[in-house]
Amino acid sequence: MLVILLLLLGKSFNMMHPLERITGKSSMDPNILDRYLSLPQNGMIQAEYVFIDAIGKCRSKTRTLSQDKAKSVGDLPEWTYDGSSTGQAPGEDSEVIIKPQKIYPDPFRPGNGNILVMCDTYTPEGKPLPTNTRFNAANVFSQKESVDATPWFGLEQEYTLFNLDNVTPLGWPANGYPMPQGPYYCGAGADRVFGRAVPEAHYRACLYAGIPISGINAEVMPGQWEYQIGPAVGINAGDDVWMARYLLDRVCEDFGVMASIHPKPITHGDWNGAGVIITIIIIIIIIFIMIIILPLLGMHINFSTKEMRQSGGMDAIIKAINRLGARHKEHIAVYGEDNELRLTGKHETASINEFSYGVANRGCSVRIPRDTNAKGYGYFEDRRPASNVDPYVATAKIMSTIMEKVDAPPALRKDKAAAKL
Ligand code: ADP
Ligand code: MN
Ligand code: MN
Ligand code: MN
Repeated sequence: MLVILLLLLGKSFNMMHPLERITGKSSMDPNILDRYLSLPQNGMIQAEYVFIDAIGKCRSKTRTLSQDKAKSVGDLPEWTYDGSSTGQAPGEDSEVIIKPQKIYPDPFRPGNGNILVMCDTYTPEGKPLPTNTRFNAANVFSQKESVDATPWFGLEQEYTLFNLDNVTPLGWPANGYPMPQGPYYCGAGADRVFGRAVPEAHYRACLYAGIPISGINAEVMPGQWEYQIGPAVGINAGDDVWMARYLLDRVCEDFGVMASIHPKPITHGDWNGAGVIITIIIIIIIIFIMIIILPLLGMHINFSTKEMRQSGGMDAIIKAINRLGARHKEHIAVYGEDNELRLTGKHETASINEFSYGVANRGCSVRIPRDTNAKGYGYFEDRRPASNVDPYVATAKIMSTIMEKVDAPPALRKDKAAAKL
């Protein structure tokens, strides 16, 4: 009862004072922090342990370690956090064990050997938590067949930047919609591109951390951006994407904006104050715009094995695509929430109900890049995953499907090359 009351109070407080979160920060000039960050650390480093919570957000906490005992991930101690505060453990037995899995130089505490530590989560008995999807992925990628295949992943993370009201994307008019798509994708100019400082800062932060970020671009809607992580080998793909997501949240803190990786980021406008009939009309228009016009965000996964990257690799590519086709439904089931709204067959997506592939065809589930087709080897792109997909789950699913020893029937091919066959 008390909890509900507090929630209600909190909610109405939020609605009444949506900018309260800004005023709380107004005296916090982040530049002043630099004075302290350049102080020597007397042989100690700061290790930021990063872990994934119950709703797929990264959280972190810091500990001091002796520099000479933090050279590699194997040196680092396990740690715990209060799982009852993250919805991952009961209050009576609240400790979640976090095990360090990969370390990165910390771009927010540069120099001096400070690190970020990607961790996964266990019960005190040593069992992986249900939300520890890394555990299964690490098993898949440590199988001999997978190691021998040297799988490369390139993941294209799309996201939307929001103002602190959590309603209005950057560059959008309050209570309205921007001009239709067209000028924004890869755009330049103050009327086309919004919040560029965020992807720029994030890009450098990833480079500093040694995350293989391969590029960025502005997307089709104002405030929408994409970064690409890859090629990353095996389990590193999941680690690097999760760490890149964490870095983006940290960068957004500095700029006072928020990043959403939800495939359908625009949920409602603030139409309070309009009359009932006008409100209903506006809601119908919003639903229309959301379903018909607004692009929904994805996370394309580019993939190749050693065999696919060598001359004659096209055979292995087609074989793999056929196997993906045979397991289409299983893949869709783990490719992110609300994906059915996105995979409609419009806006360069394929229908969720039908698996297809094609050369240079962005209306297919899987695209073979033109360059790969021309050379006869290279990689393919799985265009089905949504932007909120768990990269551990999706990469491990692709790997295990590809490794199956069955020869699947030919999948539906849709391209000009097919017409010639
Ligand atoms: P798109 O043309 O679909 O927008 P992007 O340039 O955004 O493609 O992303 C392509 C991704 O694929 C990059 O992260 C890149 O590093 C990755 N990539 C390139 N070659 C390979 C390969 N052989 N195997 C797997 N991924 C690759
Ligand atoms: Mn892209
Ligand atoms: Mn894109
Ligand atoms: Mn793509």
